[in-house]
Amino acid sequence: MIPYGRQSISEDDIQAVVDVLKSDWLTQGPKIAEFEEALCKATNAQFAVACSNGTTALHLAFMAAGLKEGDEVITTPNTFVATSNMLLACGVKPVFCEIRLDTYNLDESKVEALITSKTKAIVTVDFAGQSCDYNVLSAIAKKHGLLLIADAAHALGGEFEGKKIGELADMTLLSFHPVKSITTGEGGAIVTNNKDWADAMKRMRSHGVHKNEHGMNVMTVFGYNYRITDLQAALGTSQHKRLQRLNAHRREVVKWYAEELGTLADIVLPVEKENVKSAWHLYVIRVKDASKRQDLYEHFKKADIQANFHYPAVYNNPYYRELGFKDQLPNMDLYEETCLTLPCHQQLTHEEVKFISDSIKSFFQ
Ligand SMILES: *Cc1c(COP(=O)(O)O)cnc(C)c1O
Repeated sequence: MIPYGRQSISEDDIQAVVDVLKSDWLTQGPKIAEFEEALCKATNAQFAVACSNGTTALHLAFMAAGLKEGDEVITTPNTFVATSNMLLACGVKPVFCEIRLDTYNLDESKVEALITSKTKAIVTVDFAGQSCDYNVLSAIAKKHGLLLIADAAHALGGEFEGKKIGELADMTLLSFHPVKSITTGEGGAIVTNNKDWADAMKRMRSHGVHKNEHGMNVMTVFGYNYRITDLQAALGTSQHKRLQRLNAHRREVVKWYAEELGTLADIVLPVEKENVKSAWHLYVIRVKDASKRQDLYEHFKKADIQANFHYPAVYNNPYYRELGFKDQLPNMDLYEETCLTLPCHQQLTHEEVKFISDSIKSFFQ
């Protein structure tokens, strides 16, 4: 089967983990800070807080931002449910913004109309690895005194107007799930230039407890065990060395698809905006005739190609409907009915891209 996403693990990665296994520290050791330093380099941020996964990174970021019961946060419905789930976990109401039909990111021009006296933050998702327009969003956030938090789980290594993902929002969070830019198995992080938030998140990821000047453990804030292990952190540091190369391979894959499928009238290919360098986490096409999408998916299945759907609108999930979310956003709903994710990952070969493309062409013939 050709999977839609797949990690790339080198001999160096394996050795890095084995070295930790032979060391004194499997967790809470020196590899965490090393990984955090690597993440600062990758994002130009001053502080990084590594944690157990991207979802706990969201939770830590939202808690550090002081989001609480009764607050509203404007976010995108075109995301993995974790983004708004962690808002719910904080008692916050996610307010879903319509998406654009070019990048499938939230429509920056529709954010301001959603702001109320309860709005505390804008939480973006750089969908598929393509950055939102942070010039527009920063201006809105500044004008209305809102925090700007980026869920960049798709976008590590990406850029907007020459700035790196990680230096565009007040806090930026990352995921290191195996389908993402780099992996630690499970893992996540928040990067920020705000030391108070970074310190708070470091405490909250470890029960809210820290050692005082007498070496005694004291709990000063409420916290969880959201720690990452040294095994994972060592893998992440080793993977980080190849981040550029791994993302460059995805870029090649995108070029191959464009060569193969660029003239096919039945589908819409993803586009990269001029001022953006996408991390190309996902390669999502749209099937113009929505009634054919499921058939194409089944056609792929028979050819052992794993396609996927990123994403059904968060608000269309039964859980959200039962909570009372009544949203109906035309672009998002159209997108949901037509989107299909093709395989795009660090191991995908030119031959496989041709095979997948041929399969699409034969389907539409
Ligand atoms: C993967 C992902 C997450 C969650 O990350 P995990 O590490 O799997 O918990 C959050 N948001 C988005 C947009 C993601 O793609």
